[in-house]
Amino acid sequence: MQDIFLVVFSFLFGMAFGSFANVCIYRVPEKKSLWFPPSACPACGYRLRWNDNIPVVSYLMLGGKCRSCKAGISFQYPLVEMLTGFLFALVYLNFGFSLDTLFVFVITTVLVVITGIDYKTMIIPNGTVLVLIIIGVLYSGFRLVFPGMFISEITIWDPVIGFFAASIPLYLIAIASKGGMGGGDIKLMAAAGLFLGWKGVLLAMFIGSVAGAIVSLVLIAFKLRNRKDLIPFGPYLCFGIFLAANYAPGIIAWYLGLFSI
Ligand SMILES: [Zn+2]
Repeated sequence: MQDIFLVVFSFLFGMAFGSFANVCIYRVPEKKSLWFPPSACPACGYRLRWNDNIPVVSYLMLGGKCRSCKAGISFQYPLVEMLTGFLFALVYLNFGFSLDTLFVFVITTVLVVITGIDYKTMIIPNGTVLVLIIIGVLYSGFRLVFPGMFISEITIWDPVIGFFAASIPLYLIAIASKGGMGGGDIKLMAAAGLFLGWKGVLLAMFIGSVAGAIVSLVLIAFKLRNRKDLIPFGPYLCFGIFLAANYAPGIIAWYLGLFSI
């Protein structure tokens, strides 16, 4: 019973972080401050009050329109809030009441921000990668120094090799394809390797590549995209990183088990 309460709490906590992720997705590409000024309607400048800022609830209460000028509010807001809430609930279900959960909550939020920005602008800003590097160093550093306090176990080689394990292959692909692979994707996978370890980051790259290929083929098949259109790779890599951060040991054990019969 207490566990259900904490899953629901994680979902609500995630929606609040999703609300902050929305601010980041809008302001980071425009190089605006995340903290000032407070949120306002982009159409009329109306300052949002506390009751305009409740994740999802305010959007529904306002019918998706600004309280002052009735301009439409992007569906991105409730979508990102619900997605982050859902992901936080998954993280809690996986790691339970632990320090891992706190670190993966923050990692998840950064992944949502990177996904949103890369989807909209085709760029992964260096600032977002830097935040991921800092979290990666802290998460792996704490696990190495205080292994008993964490659920996931690592050795010193995990972050060290992890930093290069996916980023070097991507870098070589970037050189070979002459611009088919963005520098942001390479930096993202170097940062992710710091907390995923080398096995985890290779798994993340594999999942991201397969997911990206499947979605691209479907989009081309339904003529929603042209074969020549550039499709941002970051969101798929973030999807792979999220799955690897939570389920890498289980997925790798299952995969190896396929060959052990
Ligand atoms: Zn307005």
